[in-house]
Amino acid sequence: MSTFGKILNYLTNSSNSFEQFKETFKGVATIEGDPEYDVGRWAENAVRKAKYVVYPIDNEDVSKAILFATQENLDLAVKCGGHSTSGSSSSTGGMVIDLSRDLNDVTIDTDKNLAFVKGGTTVGTWKAKAFEHGKTIISLSGYFELRCCYRFGWMLWHG
Ligand SMILES: Cc1cc2nc3c(=O)[nH]c(=O)nc-3n(C[C@H](O)[C@H](O)[C@H](O)COP(=O)(O)OP(=O)(O)OC[C@H]3O[C@@H](n4cnc5c(N)ncnc54)[C@H](O)[C@@H]3O)c2cc1C
Repeated sequence: MSTFGKILNYLTNSSNSFEQFKETFKGVATIEGDPEYDVGRWAENAVRKAKYVVYPIDNEDVSKAILFATQENLDLAVKCGGHSTSGSSSSTGGMVIDLSRDLNDVTIDTDKNLAFVKGGTTVGTWKAKAFEHGKTIISLSGYFELRCCYRFGWMLWHG
C-alpha cells in the first residue's frame, strides 16, 4: 500500500473508531469545529489544541474515554477548573476529559458532616452548597478573599 493509502487508511480508521466511541458515550464527545469543543483555559499559555474534548456525565463515561484514549494511543489530560498555569489539564493533539461541565456537583451529608464532591467540582460550587446547609469550607485559593477576610469572618460566626 502506498504511503498516501496508509495515511488515508489510518485517518479513516481513526475517525471510524471515534464515531463508534461516540455511540456508546452518554456525554458529549467533540472534535475541533464542533460547537461544544472548548480548549479555553484560565491562562492563555495553558491553551493547547486537543484532538478530542469529551464531557462525561458519569464514571462509566470516564472509563470509556480512558479506554478510547489508550486504544488510540492518545495523550490524555483531565480538566476540572482549568486554572493550572502549567497546561497540565491541556493536551496538544490528544484527548481532554473535561469534568467541569457535567460532573460539577456536591452532595452534603449534614449528619455525618461529609461532602461528596464530584471530580469536576470547583470551590465556588462546593462553597455555595456548603452555605446552603449552614456549613463552610476552608480554601485558601483567593488572594482577594484573604485580603477581605470575608471567609474567615464568616467562619468565626458560623463554624
Ligand atoms: C488566580 C489563581 C490563584 C491560585 N491560588 C492558589 C492557592 O492559593 N493555593 C494553591 O494551592 N493553588 C493555587 N492556584 C493553583 C490552582 O489551585 C491549581 O492550578 C489547581 O490545579 C487548579 O485546579 P483546577 O481544578 O483548575 O485544575 P486543572 O487546571 O483543571 O487541572 C490541574 C491538574 O489536575 C488534574 N485534575 C483535575 N481534576 C482532576 C480529577 N478530578 N482527577 C484527577 N486529576 C485531575 C489535571 O489533569 C491536571 O493535571 C491558583 C491558581 C490561580 C489561577
